[in-house]
Amino acid sequence: MTPITTNHPVADVRDLWADGGVPAGPAQLALLAYRSNLLGRDRAVANFGGGNTSVKARETDHAGREIDVLWVKGSGSDLATITADGFTGLRLDEIEPLFGREAMSDADMVAYLARCQLDPAMPRSSIETLLHAFVPAPHVDHTHPDAINAITGSRDGERLARECFGDEVAWIPYVRPGFALARQIGAAVRERPGLRAVLMAKHGLVCWGETAEESYRRTIAVINQAARFVRERAGEPPGMAVPVDDEAADALLAGLLPVLRGAVASGHGKVLVVDRSPDVLEFACRTDAGELSQVGAACPDHLVHTKRTPLWIPYDPDRDDLDTLAARVRAGAEAFRDGEAAYFRANATSGELPADPNPRVVLIERVGAVTTGRDRRQALVSRDLFRRAVVVQRSATAIDSFVSLTDEESFAVEYWPLELYKLSLAPEPGELAGRVALITGAAGGIGGAVASRLAAAGAAIVGTDLDARQVEAEAPHGLLALPMDVTDEAAVHDAFRRATLEFGGVDIVVSSAGLASSAPITETSLELWETNYAVLARGYFLVAREAFRVLEAQASGGAIVFIASKNALVAGKGAAAYSSAKAAELHLARCLAEEGGAAGIRVNTVNPDAVLQGSRIWDSSWREERARTYGIGTDELEDFYRERSGLGVNVLPEDIAAAVLHFASDARSGKSTGNILNVDGGVTAAYPR
Ligand code: ZN
Repeated sequence: MTPITTNHPVADVRDLWADGGVPAGPAQLALLAYRSNLLGRDRAVANFGGGNTSVKARETDHAGREIDVLWVKGSGSDLATITADGFTGLRLDEIEPLFGREAMSDADMVAYLARCQLDPAMPRSSIETLLHAFVPAPHVDHTHPDAINAITGSRDGERLARECFGDEVAWIPYVRPGFALARQIGAAVRERPGLRAVLMAKHGLVCWGETAEESYRRTIAVINQAARFVRERAGEPPGMAVPVDDEAADALLAGLLPVLRGAVASGHGKVLVVDRSPDVLEFACRTDAGELSQVGAACPDHLVHTKRTPLWIPYDPDRDDLDTLAARVRAGAEAFRDGEAAYFRANATSGELPADPNPRVVLIERVGAVTTGRDRRQALVSRDLFRRAVVVQRSATAIDSFVSLTDEESFAVEYWPLELYKLSLAPEPGELAGRVALITGAAGGIGGAVASRLAAAGAAIVGTDLDARQVEAEAPHGLLALPMDVTDEAAVHDAFRRATLEFGGVDIVVSSAGLASSAPITETSLELWETNYAVLARGYFLVAREAFRVLEAQASGGAIVFIASKNALVAGKGAAAYSSAKAAELHLARCLAEEGGAAGIRVNTVNPDAVLQGSRIWDSSWREERARTYGIGTDELEDFYRERSGLGVNVLPEDIAAAVLHFASDARSGKSTGNILNVDGGVTAAYPR
């Protein structure tokens, strides 16, 4: 790849108002949602979860009285996707007198605002509600735009703001959001009627208008004025190293990500996301990236998702091999945790609980960023916010030098109960949160049910089968579908590599790929024999070997589950090829349990019997062959198997999936390996002994 050159620290944002779809009619809330969505559509205007919007309107309350209402974004929503019911209505005449107060604690403010809600069932209003109430305009927008934060994050930001905007904007020094900040903003706007906007140091922008359109368009115009100013003022671009190209980066990351994943796990699963987008890759190539990336957070809003700084990993492709880099990652993660512990000790005052001390962003020189999360969604939020931080930091550096929140200011936001409340609104992580599960035979009845069950428990799912399109057709939300023939050594290697590049590694491997055949021994062709052994013995070996390689690199345990068969234990008459191959599979699991123990890798087997529903095996000639063996019609098979079982039940794919979840989950079976769990309705001959 050629070296990166940059002369455009920050780009203009587009005015989207007239793109169509402006809601007609008097409904102020619909218009507010529309305006909010436009602001959120461009993350250079409003980052994920950040910013808030409001409208002041006349409404009729529950008693039929006409009152003034402040509609403001509820806590925990995102402007890009918010709908009318994401806003909270507050009685404005009860809030306005607060402007006369000198001070108000966060707890008092939250309790007071809760009592002003039109309906207690509405979401808690944004922690920046009061700034909307105190700015005397019908429509108010507060955002954290890149171009504005380039100025507000500059050492000499106040002077630069004046040079860019003259007297048309007010400058408010950094204060944590809350009553005091809202009051200062309200006072600035009330004192100076000609004002167009308020800039908040190391934080963001407030604009307002008589109409929704005016407020939105002013936000966009002010951002673009700042963007032009930054481009005009930008000094010499920094020195740039040559980025590692895509192929070399993939080769490196396929080996490094499992190590990194293990290094930041601390007993939890983590999903990783690689970011080589142009802005982030360029940042990773700056010759000053090692220093600039370590200055601190660009905006209070980024902190809980990015922490103060990324973990910086220097990398020189000409000198460093994978082992060197892996050692650097392990040592770096440990040093990062030590740094977080020291930061916590230095700033904790009132019984706060330490947050996960692992990095959320790892920046690898010349390669890009890797973000981490308890699930993919969290890792993507960190990625998106780090992209914003990168643009702000490079732009501030282009016109001045970048200043971040201090450690004290950062701690006050990161451990602020009101910020933590926002996080608490996210759904509880499932028991497999942060775990990555790779399933073979995922297009089949059992494989598909396993994918759904593990996804519902919070795992990130990689579903593989001969035909990836069939996996996709049954896909639970968010599944990565990959083609994989388990008998093909290169294909197995490739699928694990792609899973690693997508999620950072693998924790749970469920081998469910299968086939079945039935024939008397004298009629069993060599081809039939070898097909059974290719899938059930060789295929299970190849998948398990690759799984072990990834799991050992992660060094954080793992669970392998084989789907075998009752026939692995019971001599199957007229199915010698299938049954003996299943027995080989079962014994392979026990051998691997023995071998994986020291690394915490558990290997267990689930033995289904006669799972006809949704099965592609049972749609094949196997159904007729089994029926013939038992001397019954194919439509009688289901009844036959039910009556044969001790419990008198049919076994369904969901029953197998529940057993797989048991073995996949450390919480349920963390001390079990080398086990067999029959899910067959009770077949005496298959009782293990
Ligand atoms: Zn804010």
